[in-house]
Amino acid sequence: MSDKILIVEDEVRIVRTLQLYLEQAGFAVTAVHTGTDAIPAFRQERPSLVLLDLNLPGQDGLDICRNLRRMGNVPIIMLTARTEEMDRLIGLELGADDYISKPFSPREVVARVRAVLRRTQGSLASENILQAGALQLDLAAYRVWIDGQLLDLTQTEFELLATLMRHKGHVMSRAQLLEAVQGVAFEELERAIDQHVKNVRRKLKEVVGDLPIINTIYGVGYRLDEVELPHA
Ligand code: CA
Repeated sequence: MSDKILIVEDEVRIVRTLQLYLEQAGFAVTAVHTGTDAIPAFRQERPSLVLLDLNLPGQDGLDICRNLRRMGNVPIIMLTARTEEMDRLIGLELGADDYISKPFSPREVVARVRAVLRRTQGSLASENILQAGALQLDLAAYRVWIDGQLLDLTQTEFELLATLMRHKGHVMSRAQLLEAVQGVAFEELERAIDQHVKNVRRKLKEVVGDLPIINTIYGVGYRLDEVELPHA
């Protein structure tokens, strides 16, 4: 299966050129033209790598980079104008894997994409699997198993559980969980997290019974620890 590249870039001409070269190089390409579309497209497409422009209508590239980093380890290459030295540095601080200054040759972009994928994919295979004892989650396949049994979770429930597993042993506040799930924190929506947690708990319970898998930390948030089943 070919690697999928998500391009987030508002200049249509650049998108067309990159898409052409990347597809010729054997990649599958999806493109969005505004910052606002970036995270939804990422969630839907689950790309192997994101080419991310810095200056975008809607949400800017730095915000998107920050949000993508919270959601996982997808390799990110920032596309920046030459004058944006400071932004470039900030981009790398935020966890971008590489940057390319505009104007660039599409061949160079393809070469960098290959290089970053080579560098990151060895470690990605294992990083895509999160494990908390009997609970296992595959970020790439978007699947969760408890005691080997597949759970049927909604996208939000999946992201919620993935976030708790990434921070196994640490208390996550509702605001942090909401941010991980939606990209932005709204205090009034924090209660929605309680409902999602409740749903995840109910679905876990259907398989393994009444075990305290997600603990409520009163007044703070939720914590997931190593999951040990009585019969395991
Ligand atoms: Ca731009």
